[in-house]
Amino acid sequence: MSGGDMAKPLLGHRSMDGDPSITSAAGRTISVLGSGDFARSLAIRLVCSGFKVVVGSRNPKRKAGLFPSAAEVTFQADAVKQADVIFVAVFREHYSTLCDLADVLAGKILVDVSNNTEINHHRESNAEYLASLFPACTVVKGFNVVSAWTLQSGARDGNKQVLICSNNQEAKRTVAEIAQVMGFTPVDMGCMSSASEIENIPLRLLPAWKIPIFLALGLFLCFFTYNLIRQVIHPYIREQKNKLYKIPIEVVNTTLPCVAYVMLSLVYLPGVLAACSQLYYGTKYRRFPDWLDQWLQHRKQIGLLSFFCAALHTVYSLCLPMRRSHRYQLIETAVKQAVEKKMNIWVEEEVWRMEIYISVGIIALGLLSLLAITSLPSIANSLNWREFSFIQSTLGFIALVISTLHTLTYGWSRAFDENQYKFYLPPTYTLTLLVPCTVILAKVIFSLPCIHQRLLRIRRGWEKGRYVKFVLPSATGEYSSGETSSNV
Ligand code: NAP
Repeated sequence: MSGGDMAKPLLGHRSMDGDPSITSAAGRTISVLGSGDFARSLAIRLVCSGFKVVVGSRNPKRKAGLFPSAAEVTFQADAVKQADVIFVAVFREHYSTLCDLADVLAGKILVDVSNNTEINHHRESNAEYLASLFPACTVVKGFNVVSAWTLQSGARDGNKQVLICSNNQEAKRTVAEIAQVMGFTPVDMGCMSSASEIENIPLRLLPAWKIPIFLALGLFLCFFTYNLIRQVIHPYIREQKNKLYKIPIEVVNTTLPCVAYVMLSLVYLPGVLAACSQLYYGTKYRRFPDWLDQWLQHRKQIGLLSFFCAALHTVYSLCLPMRRSHRYQLIETAVKQAVEKKMNIWVEEEVWRMEIYISVGIIALGLLSLLAITSLPSIANSLNWREFSFIQSTLGFIALVISTLHTLTYGWSRAFDENQYKFYLPPTYTLTLLVPCTVILAKVIFSLPCIHQRLLRIRRGWEKGRYVKFVLPSATGEYSSGETSSNV
């Protein structure tokens, strides 16, 4: 399963939430085998949800104090006898020690809550293994994506979804009912063959973020090295000046906006490439290459990392005047002026450049914050498609244009000053402009009526070299359909 997988069940699988046939299962007796962290949190949540709980332990006397008084803690066999649904809160490697209970367990529902320590650790899933040990029982996989902490704090915090799978519909339904009474959202993941997939989910570490994080780190490394050469190595080699003190703040602070700016343009570049592909092939039905598909899917994460770097750049910039080096430089400049008897050092052009530069930067950061906030699922879900696309697409593009203005006012005329070329290397900002300006130029070209219309028709299903029936809105807003030649 690839990036954004946690969201997949909501869309691709039937949520059992809100099923009118599900009635309250509270009052039912539930057994929990095991007395560890998970068993304890599960027992607390079950008791709070109105279930009668019986905990089965190998040493009930010692463990009884750890559970709420409403829960009965007894020997494993005793606990199993009292309920039809048994949560197995024991690690896979200890399943075989439960085989003595096979007779009392026969005909009951076993809920396998276990996780592994590695992705695809075993050939068969834990739930399938449990089912093979207890063929007379019905095994349901579930609750493994919920942590002990989430169980204890209730479904208000943490992940509310409980992914469930089993080969037995009735057993799956019973467990879903229990999950729902506990305040969770049961999600039907199908039959037992999905158990491995469910067991792998808690082990995945930010799958959708890997590529964007490597991209951001790669860009950071490149720009950092470039700035280091220009700001530290060049003055040392050419003038024997030690500028190493610049590394922790100045060099980092000139690198962060470069990464933020280029990353922001990389959010919009795949859209441009996709549009080029659609225009070239004259269809929207041709699959994009895998790399472009992947890139399109990671735009949200790339955008959030761009915002993160921009926010860090803001904090670093605010800290610049706090540095000792800055204070010494200010005093040095003041002394020099006093010695040279200079009274007026006001440079009107520099003043205006700085005012515009900072103001535009603040607006760009504000827009980026808006993009970041609206990409949060809870906010995104409260917007309709038009609002979401207006913010992410139109405002996002405006943020890119304003960031370009921010970069240009920073650079001003430095690109034409030969002193700015250290070891013949142009100022960093000129390099960062490359991708964003390409994106902006492409967007301007796509907005030309002849290209915009063609793109619009392609996105409505028109294909080059084919007669297709398509529907266009008339001037009055009504829709009219007709046959058209693809070559029109
Ligand atoms: P734990 O604290 O180590 O508890 C495991 C329990 O298993 C022990 O307290 C023990 O209870 C029981 N057990 C039964 N037979 C055993 C044997 N032969 N050897 C050792 N212990 C035996 O582990 P846990 O964190 O509660 O996890 C339990 C299960 O829940 C695991 O499969 C885990 O993957 C799953 N899980 C845990 C979490 C979590 O956040 N902790 C989240 C999701 C899933 P008695 O001594 O009373 O018999």
